[in-house]
Amino acid sequence: MIDHNPVLPSDIPPLRVIRSAKRHRTISIRVEDDAIVVRIPATLPDHVWKTEVRRRQHWIMNMLRQMRTSRTTQPPWTQRSLTLGGDTRHVAFSQAEQWYVRRTGTTLEFGGPVPALDAPAMQRFIRRVISDEASRWMQDRVSDWVAQTGLAPSAVRIADPKSRWGSCSPKGRIMLSWRLALAPVAVADYVVVHELCHLLELNHSPRFWAHVARWIPDHRHHRHWLRQHGHSLFW
Ligand SMILES: [Zn+2]
Repeated sequence: MIDHNPVLPSDIPPLRVIRSAKRHRTISIRVEDDAIVVRIPATLPDHVWKTEVRRRQHWIMNMLRQMRTSRTTQPPWTQRSLTLGGDTRHVAFSQAEQWYVRRTGTTLEFGGPVPALDAPAMQRFIRRVISDEASRWMQDRVSDWVAQTGLAPSAVRIADPKSRWGSCSPKGRIMLSWRLALAPVAVADYVVVHELCHLLELNHSPRFWAHVARWIPDHRHHRHWLRQHGHSLFW
């Protein structure tokens, strides 16, 4: 299983510990975008503040969750371009009587009975088109990796989970997020292989990671990408 939700422990930003030179008697914790800032009295032993940080872990995670959901992620097509399965397309819009999507060269043109690309009904239409296309792309990716690794899940489901990129059940059923189709192809591949490797090891032991590394030697790099940029796929 790979968690992508920023509120989960693996995604907590690093701690920045500031020892106060002044007579600072309390421990204060502030959650920032890129760090958890902990201010402590100058001579406080490490184990004391570490215990306090652990005790307040739930509060920290709640703060992170609030910060990240309140920050609105712009859908990629508002920048008039979209990358799906590693393919970047220019996004165009036309007003028309019927809903349609047309692919010509590197352009993806959406049309419908609304005045603009950012009309709510058009947004819903684009989301549906993209999630369908992304799901199909992910299915194909899984098939490729099943053929390449010889690891065959009992079932594959492409879905839109809110708190993980993928999972593998003890019965060998694999679930993957279609949003991975919008990440770099190597990142999507890593998650596919990660879940397939759970068919061999249903844990995150060194043996599990050795299996992953056989096919994806630079998996650490892709995990890092997911931690840094994963939230940008949620719009
Ligand atoms: Zn896993």
